[in-house]
Amino acid sequence: MSPDLAPRPTRDVSDPPHTGGPARSVGQDDIENELIHMRHSFGESLAGLDQSVRRIEGEFDATLAGNGRKRPGESMTCEHAARVEPVPPRTPAGCEECLAAGTSWVHLRLCLTCGHVGCCDSSPGRHATRHARATSHPVVASYEPGERWAWCYVDRVGVDLPSRAVPYLR
Ligand SMILES: [Zn+2]
Ligand SMILES: [Zn+2]
Ligand SMILES: [Zn+2]
Repeated sequence: MSPDLAPRPTRDVSDPPHTGGPARSVGQDDIENELIHMRHSFGESLAGLDQSVRRIEGEFDATLAGNGRKRPGESMTCEHAARVEPVPPRTPAGCEECLAAGTSWVHLRLCLTCGHVGCCDSSPGRHATRHARATSHPVVASYEPGERWAWCYVDRVGVDLPSRAVPYLR
C-alpha cells in the first residue's frame, strides 16, 4: 500500500477569507459613543501622566538647585576651579624649589593661581602641597605631559580642568 493513497486534509478554497467579517448590527451612534468614551478615558490618562512628569521634573529641578549647578558625572562641590585665572608656569623646567635645591621629583603640578610648578606628594619635597598650604592657592593641574586633570586642595576633590589652563600645560 502506497502512503500516497492516504487521504490528505484539504482546505475549502471556496470559503472567503475573514478579513471584513459580517456586517454588525451595532448602530453608528453606539460606535461613536464608544469612541468618545475611549478618547475621554485616554485623555484623562494623558493628563495624569503629564502631571506625574511635571512633578518628577519639579523634584529633579529641586534636587539640582540643592546641589548647586551639579550635572551628572561632574563634581561641583568645588567653587574654586571656576574662579582661578591661570597664568604661565614660572619654572617650566620643573619644580621651583627642587630646581633651586638641586633635588629630584617624581611628578609635577602647576598652581593655577600663580603659575608655581611644584612636585607631587610622591616626591620627597612635596612642594606642590606645601605651596598650596603656604599660599592658600586652591587648585593645581597636572603638569605631566598629556595629562589633563585638576585637583582642589581645599575641597580635596578632582575638579574639571579649567579650559584657560590648558595652554599652559605640557
Ligand atoms: Zn575647591
Ligand atoms: Zn600658587
Ligand atoms: Zn619639589
